[in-house]
Amino acid sequence: MTSYREKFRTVIQKLIDSPDNQHEPLTNFIANEFVKPEKWMHSVNPATGKPWIKIPDGTASEVDSAVAAAKEAFKTWKNTTVQQRSTLLNKVANLIEEFNDEIAILESRDQGKPIGLAKVMDIPRCVQNFRDFANSALYALSTSKILEQPTGKCVNYVKHDPVGVAGLISPWNLPLYLVTFRFRTIKPNFLKLSFKLAPALVAGNTVVCKPSEMTSVTAWVLMHAFKLVGFPSGVVNMVIGEGRSAGQRLVDHPDVHLISFTGSTLVGTKIQEDGAKMNKKVSLEMGGKNPGIVYTNYRKSDIATIARSSFLNQGEICLCTSRLFVQRPIFDDFVKSYVQEAQKFTIGDPSTQVQIGAMNSKVHFEKVKKYIEIAKKEGGNIHCGGVKTVSNGCEDGYFIAPTVITGLPDSSQCMTDEIFGPVVCITPFDTSEEVIERANSTSYGLSATVWSANTDELLNTANELRAGTVWCNTWLARELSMPFGGCKQSGTGREGLHDSLHFYSDAKTVCVNLASKY
Ligand code: NAD
Repeated sequence: MTSYREKFRTVIQKLIDSPDNQHEPLTNFIANEFVKPEKWMHSVNPATGKPWIKIPDGTASEVDSAVAAAKEAFKTWKNTTVQQRSTLLNKVANLIEEFNDEIAILESRDQGKPIGLAKVMDIPRCVQNFRDFANSALYALSTSKILEQPTGKCVNYVKHDPVGVAGLISPWNLPLYLVTFRFRTIKPNFLKLSFKLAPALVAGNTVVCKPSEMTSVTAWVLMHAFKLVGFPSGVVNMVIGEGRSAGQRLVDHPDVHLISFTGSTLVGTKIQEDGAKMNKKVSLEMGGKNPGIVYTNYRKSDIATIARSSFLNQGEICLCTSRLFVQRPIFDDFVKSYVQEAQKFTIGDPSTQVQIGAMNSKVHFEKVKKYIEIAKKEGGNIHCGGVKTVSNGCEDGYFIAPTVITGLPDSSQCMTDEIFGPVVCITPFDTSEEVIERANSTSYGLSATVWSANTDELLNTANELRAGTVWCNTWLARELSMPFGGCKQSGTGREGLHDSLHFYSDAKTVCVNLASKY
């Protein structure tokens, strides 16, 4: 009999080996069946600019079927033990880990990210997400208290009930990571789905995932993992499709009690409004315009990390630095060294050993290009970067080199709008008070970095910044037990080991009278 590992290998290898557009079209995943959709659309390989696979263009009725399956499965899944759920999630982690390098090939082809990055960041982090949530849920603490009254004692304890059917909506930049989530060190697409799925499932919910229509291939592979390791029918479901159809129906469906969304502020805000009409539990991880603050006495050896914080994954990480404030005495020298660093990044076919791959889509490529044009019109000085032509089959791909801009006022669109590409604006500052006010002046508040050898300076600045995460002399180092999320227009709610388990459950206080007789 063929083992489930061999079956998984076959699914992945077929995708890897199929020439562009020769693989059979992808499907939705409903009640443990890979179901042909009503209609399909093309997914484009961003490195070649050509369609490489057909994916479902999910409809409202397909979402309805997925939700119905999840609702039915919830009746029994909610009564399974944490140990049972944890065991299954660990099996998924092991399977993904075994095929780390092969899944990385697919993630790179689908998203445009360098294969090397997918191997060390996206896929390992997805594995970690599954493992950490599976294991930590076993030891999640619940409070209990004795209530003393004149009439006797009562014991109070808290039980965390699963919420029901969870709708998980993820973006294209870190597909798997977010659907499953966690950065430990620099390791982040496979990522995004895992950060949602793992806590939702271990808490006893059933789920319907809606990955980004731009990057759904590894999510489809992941569904095979769930089925093969033995998840019961209907516990995990997925409808691939566009946000305005499949995504919107998931948000509007009366039997979906919770929505976890990662994506743009525009879409997130609408989801919050729509969800509020039915009082759904909603968690929003949205856009950012993250500042980096470099003080005069920063460690010069950190410059490579500061550049990485702007350009990793083509700058397509919500946590990338896009505004750099540099203290005036070192400004000119810093810009010179930083431009040299930016020019060291190798760019090209993401399936080869490069550091920067392709922008995720033509639309996004055009958007980033537009901002570079705006910078020029507004009098910005473009030190390096812009559109890059790549050969060997990638002539029509969407490549932009690390772009460094100076000379723009804080009111410039490039300094206020989320560009979400390898574009950074550098500007000088004089005092700590001034830079804190300027760094806090956009509508976003996701993350920030501060660079200084002076601990007081670091901590005073970190304490005053309005952001969900502030990194001091480091970037992207993340511990799963810490809360993750954004302030202002960057998000609502927090995710992380404890925060996610709280979000994906409803705390219920049970009070028991200890009196032996009534
Ligand atoms: P997006 O908002 O366009 O799409 C995100 C997801 O929402 C996709 O699956 C999309 O199909 C779906 N969607 C779109 N319209 C919808 C609707 N009306 N109802 C329901 N679902 C809908 O974002 P994107 O372009 O895929 O991703 C980039 C954005 O994600 C950036 O703004 C980035 O900052 C943000 N992001 C934030 C975080 C974070 O943790 N804060 C992490 C990664 C990405």
